[in-house]
Amino acid sequence: MPELPEVETIARGLAPVLRGRRVEAVWGSGLPLHLNRPVDLRALRAVAVGRTIRRVHRRGKYLLIEVEEAGAGIVVHLGMTGRLRVQPAEAPRAPHTHVVFTLDGGGELRFADARRFGWVAAGTPLAALAVLAALGPDPLSDLDAPRLRDLLAASRAPVKAFLLDQRRVAGLGNIYVAEALFRARIHPATPARRAASRAPALLDAIRAVLEGGIARRGTTLRDYVDADGNSGDNARALLVYGRQGGPCRRCGALIRRRVDGGRATFFCPKCQRR
Ligand SMILES: [Zn+2]
Repeated sequence: MPELPEVETIARGLAPVLRGRRVEAVWGSGLPLHLNRPVDLRALRAVAVGRTIRRVHRRGKYLLIEVEEAGAGIVVHLGMTGRLRVQPAEAPRAPHTHVVFTLDGGGELRFADARRFGWVAAGTPLAALAVLAALGPDPLSDLDAPRLRDLLAASRAPVKAFLLDQRRVAGLGNIYVAEALFRARIHPATPARRAASRAPALLDAIRAVLEGGIARRGTTLRDYVDADGNSGDNARALLVYGRQGGPCRRCGALIRRRVDGGRATFFCPKCQRR
């Protein structure tokens, strides 16, 4: 599933192509997306058609496309397999294309999603959308160590679950949480409040793995591609995620994998003691 670095990479790829373009029409496949919900094409058209795109950016794992009307725009969540690309109108549409924005000048912004866990919605304003209003601070722009310490201290969850909770910290998923906890030498099952005193090191680790992921244009394990259709290079830089049975790059102990609540957890038993 795309996390913060993958969504950031897509936003950076789309921004120069979309900025200044006017939306002329919105098309939908008619198939429902996340949670079997239909796409509200009427709302998308009301926000976008006839308007010029001003800004493409990201908050947590959400991609935001703002139009000229203050604060209004489109929000996209890529789910598991969502892809967002601008292509010439005459190019054949990829299978599983579900939403298409026709742009002036002949291009189309296309959202394709094989598994349909993603979604596309309109916001007037975007900030009023419940999913965005509920997001915690973004670790690259609005989180500092004292705030992270306070959030950790107030939580009853294990630190891994805390970091995955988008209401606490926005943008992290299973891959970058595993990498950040390894770098900070914190065991994933440590109670969040016990990790509070390590907030500065944890925040440094979170930022390092996210910035590394962005610099390598995201982690492609299976489905993720950037706005140009290319895979990211970050998978080979992963230190624990997906490396069970391999030697820890720091101490040589074998990386372990265990499953908690249906999700895999990767850690070094020596570097990350409980
Ligand atoms: Zn180790």
